[in-house]
Formats: sequence, C-alpha cells, structure tokens
Amino acid sequence: MPIQIARFVVKEKFNQTADVVTLRLVPLDPFNMDFKPGQFVNLYVQREGEPLLARPYSIASSPTNKDYLELTIKIIEGGRFTPRVASLKIGDVVKIGGPFGKFFFLDEEKMKDVVLIGGGCGITPFISIIRYVSEKGLDVNITYFYSARTMDSILYRNELESIAKKNKNIKIIFTCTREGSSSWNGERGRINLDMIKKYVDIRDDKKYYMLCGPPEMIKSLVEQLKSAGINEEKIIHESWSA
Ligand SMILES: Cc1cc2nc3c(=O)[nH]c(=O)nc-3n(C[C@H](O)[C@H](O)[C@H](O)COP(=O)(O)OP(=O)(O)OC[C@H]3O[C@@H](n4cnc5c(N)ncnc54)[C@H](O)[C@@H]3O)c2cc1C
Repeated sequence: MPIQIARFVVKEKFNQTADVVTLRLVPLDPFNMDFKPGQFVNLYVQREGEPLLARPYSIASSPTNKDYLELTIKIIEGGRFTPRVASLKIGDVVKIGGPFGKFFFLDEEKMKDVVLIGGGCGITPFISIIRYVSEKGLDVNITYFYSARTMDSILYRNELESIAKKNKNIKIIFTCTREGSSSWNGERGRINLDMIKKYVDIRDDKKYYMLCGPPEMIKSLVEQLKSAGINEEKIIHESWSA
C-alpha cells in the first residue's frame, strides 16, 4: 500500500496506567486504513514555536476497525516527544504518516500457529494482531506471553482476558517481573525459554515466533529460541530502541 500522510483529530484520549496514554485518532484527510496488523505509523505533533517532531508508534487497533487509529504510548519523563503526546487534548490535530514496517501478521494460510512474545508497551502490535484474529474469527492458534512489571501495569488486561475466554485458539500468559502481592497467581519473572516450553511445544516446526520489545530482551530471547533449535526463518522480531 502506498505511504500516506494525513491530518488526524484526537477523538479520544485516556490513560491505561499512570504513564501510558491511549489516543484514538480519526482522519481529517483521506487515509486508507488497510494496514497490516503489526505495522506502525509516524505520529507528528507540532508545539507552538518549536520544530515539528515525529516518532514511530505501532498501531494498536485492528485494520477491521475503520473508525479510528489507536495508538498506546508510554510517556517518558524528560523525553523529547512523549510530553507533547501527554499534553494533547481532544480536538487537537496531529499528522500521521504510514503505514510502515515488515513486522506483521502476514500470511493467514501459512501462519496457523503463532507465539507472540512482548513486554510493556510492546503489546501494541500484538493487541492489533489479536483483535484482528478474534474479529475475523481466523483459524489461527495464538499463544501470547506478555510481561509487565506489576499486575496493575498490564495493558489491555480486561480485553485480552475476554478475548481469550471467547476464543479457544487464543491463549494469554501474563508474567509480572516485580509484583509484590501474593494475590497475583499468574507467572512471575522474565519470559524465558523454560517459561515458553511450559505452554508451547517448541518441537512443532510449523510455529512462528513474533517478538517485540527493547533490543536486549529481543536479543536474549532470539538467542534462546535459536539455541533450542528453532529455525531463524520462523522468528520475526522488532525492537524499539529509544
Ligand atoms: C517501530 C516502532 C514502534 C514503536 N511503537 C511504540 C508504541 O506503540 N508505544 C510506545 O510507547 N513506544 C513505541 N515506540 C517507541 C517510540 O517511537 C519512542 O522511541 C518513545 O515514545 C520515546 O519518545 P521520546 O522522544 O519522548 O523519548 P526520548 O527523548 O527519545 O528518550 C528520553 C529518554 O528515555 C529513554 N526511553 C525511551 N523510550 C523508553 C521506554 N519505552 N521506556 C523507558 N525509557 C525509555 C531513552 O533512553 C532516553 O534516555 C516504537 C518504536 C519503534 C521503532
């Protein structure tokens, strides 16, 4: 699809957690919403008297949703761009360029069994994929390993749980790396090969693995998957360096 650039208006804005904001953006100019789940856009925000700045953000909504583009963004204190996102108001106009990227759920016929691995805000391409598979009722098995610091910082938790309840083919494994409460009965600690093997038969060579998150996390997990004999071609990853 050709790259587009268009003005969008902020229709909705709400906090997922104290430092994570979700924007729902509606196009003011023609914009073809047929992106692939997992792709990203560039978000441009102008602040008066300052240069125009842009950053890439994965699209969290599904391409089946033609009403708005959803972006979910962690606000970095002292960051050059995200404080502009934090100060956006309903009705403000931003620009979107895209869609971009080769990190997407592509082949519904070939990718029948997919293991998704990510943490924190790295959920955004995966919530798009999960919404898409669920909304289209695709015959695709998904096992999603999602790590967050604490149970309160899990993004989209209610929606993920309700999708998993409705779709037998979608399984979500939450793990908390710093949860102090004994009421948390999900997994604890970082995602690693042992955790993956607990839920997934990695000997099945038809499985695809998609990973998204900070470069160190991706590097370590890709090495672990390769050392377990998983073919590199089956491992698709995108890292978000700052
Ligand atoms: C393809 C792609 C998709 C992306 N999708 C998303 C998305 O859906 N949601 C999202 O929130 N971000 C996403 N990012 C990251 C995003 O583009 C910016 O890098 C991020 O918002 C930082 O913006 P900033 O300019 O405010 O911070 P900067 O001014 O660039 O950084 C300020 C400081 O914060 C540190 N920092 C930067 N990012 C983080 C972080 N995530 N956690 C902790 N410290 C950090 C930096 O190392 C630096 O020290 C994506 C990146 C890529 C490449």
